[in-house]
Amino acid sequence: MTGEQDWRDGTRCVHAGLPEPAPGEPFLPGPVFAAPYHLDPWEGPSASPNGYGRPDNPTRRLLESAVGELEGGDCRVFASGQAAITGLLLAVLRPGDVVLLPADGYYAVRSFATRTLAGIGVDVRFAPTAGPYPELDGVRLVLLESPANPGLDVCDIAALAARAHAAGALVAVDNTTATPLGQRPLDLGADVVVASGTKALTGHSDLLLGYVATRSAELLTAVTDWRKTTGAVPGAFDAWLAHRSLATLDLRLARQTANAEAVARTLVARPDVAGVRWPGLPDDPAHPVAAAQMRRLPGLVSFDLGDADRVARFVAASRLVAAATSFGGLHTTVDRRAQWGDEVTPGFVRLSCGVEDPADVVADLTAALDAAGLSCGTPTTGPDRRR
Ligand SMILES: *Cc1c(COP(=O)(O)O)cnc(C)c1O
Repeated sequence: MTGEQDWRDGTRCVHAGLPEPAPGEPFLPGPVFAAPYHLDPWEGPSASPNGYGRPDNPTRRLLESAVGELEGGDCRVFASGQAAITGLLLAVLRPGDVVLLPADGYYAVRSFATRTLAGIGVDVRFAPTAGPYPELDGVRLVLLESPANPGLDVCDIAALAARAHAAGALVAVDNTTATPLGQRPLDLGADVVVASGTKALTGHSDLLLGYVATRSAELLTAVTDWRKTTGAVPGAFDAWLAHRSLATLDLRLARQTANAEAVARTLVARPDVAGVRWPGLPDDPAHPVAAAQMRRLPGLVSFDLGDADRVARFVAASRLVAAATSFGGLHTTVDRRAQWGDEVTPGFVRLSCGVEDPADVVADLTAALDAAGLSCGTPTTGPDRRR
């Protein structure tokens, strides 16, 4: 018999966080809806792990053990990715501290840093995910995001963690695009993982979730206290839905990656599509590091259709590709990131592959691009076409 530590991804996802089998009990217990719980009249809250819903919920704890198993650390879930990431930043950083963030990372984290963190006296600095990185002496926390959303550049997490630790800095990695099956930052030397579980991790476009995972007792206590006092917890039903969805993570990612490969190869071959990025393409700038570091590649492809109007024509002509933000869901979607304020070109598109049949997606995408025609005035030829 193989031990749990030998299980492969599909098995780990199906079993993650489930209670020991017990006759008459379900595989995954249903959501426990409670604000207060009954207390022992004599012993009070010390008699049970469940006292009040903000710090304590059994459905949430099962989800945390599941995500913790997949990431290889202790986990705390939050009401959204933003709640988890801002929670970690505010729990760790103090006025005068220096924080280094990805210049091309998730937009809402960067705007939180330049507004709120800088506003309380944190020294906020940025470096592009692909580098170069500055000297890290004096830095308190380095937040990495690899692959970065939406540009899909990557960084060498192990090398940067070693550099950061030598300089006395903590390293956090936003693992949203990769998911814990794509890479395990704690194994690569990161001190803490932060992520949105809204995206590929849960993958059904029906809930918001975030989490922090770490092997450091000190960071876990800081984050747990932060969550308990600020209260950004997911509800029991969302926690249960998320846990239910985790069982199919391996299957969903396998199809999304296969679809991304088919889509990327189709797009790269078209003279009317510029700037195709997918870390699995052999000549993508992110390929060498991604191939060495990642266990599987994301279902995200980015490219440029030149202008907003052509993107709209493409989406309108497609039967399978929906316009929507977020990513990692069952349905193939595209998001024109400039409409949200990302500093990208107007025709920059992040395409999130769903779990449809790859042949159908490629046929639909091809027909929709043919129908959308060309944009007015954006260069789509030349040596940099694939960048
Ligand atoms: C979506 C996302 C977040 C924020 O997560 P929410 O669940 O939307 O709050 C953070 N980081 C990355 C990389 C994301 O893609």
